Amino acid sequence: MKNVFFLLVVIFLFACKSEKKNPAQVEIVHDTSSVEKIELESSTPESIVPDYDTTKWIELISLDSTILFDLKYATTDNFVNEQLYDCGRCFLRREAADQLVKAQNMLKEKGFRFKMLDCYRPLPVQQQLWDKFQNASYVTPPGKGSMHNRGLAVDLTIVDRNGEELDMGTSFDFFGKEAHHTYTNFSDTILSNRNLLKNTMEKVGFKPIRTEWWHYSYTKKMYGLSEMVWNCPVE
Ligand SMILES: [Zn+2]
Repeated sequence: MKNVFFLLVVIFLFACKSEKKNPAQVEIVHDTSSVEKIELESSTPESIVPDYDTTKWIELISLDSTILFDLKYATTDNFVNEQLYDCGRCFLRREAADQLVKAQNMLKEKGFRFKMLDCYRPLPVQQQLWDKFQNASYVTPPGKGSMHNRGLAVDLTIVDRNGEELDMGTSFDFFGKEAHHTYTNFSDTILSNRNLLKNTMEKVGFKPIRTEWWHYSYTKKMYGLSEMVWNCPVE
């Protein structure tokens, strides 16, 4: 009898413990899911709603997040050694952006990707560049305007599977004959890297310029010069 009583006490205690535990577990699961839901609801609109005029511009990363970005004028690592963009964002006109994504897909089949060095450049920044370096061979005078100021030009290079830049023979914005397409006194590897960039870009309608291996313009559609300046995240 004593044993039976002891057994009943044990069962009772166990039942109490289980009862206490179960609601707690349910509550934890419930809390976690509701927190996750709230986070999703609050973060989604910010990341999806564009903060620019989508009838005029497209931000390249919104079309293809596998493209890399190292926008040099948003850093001091450029030929004027000054940061000219408050933050680095790559905007293009829709037609140019669509074609660039096609080219990126062609590259990806070969294990490569683009790294963007410059995209749309606001006209006031073109003026700043011109003020610092008045050489029309390398900086287009703002009065004339560059294809970058129209959202139709890109400066870019190619990276391998590890994100390492292919050797193109010179750095970006190297002002000398070695950066020209006509300069061929390079190793076969460098020449073939440059050809990969040139062939890929030409297949989707971009055109090179003679003096800069990194620069390509989309000329099948024309837009006016623009002063649009993009927003930057508030810190
Ligand atoms: Zn350029």
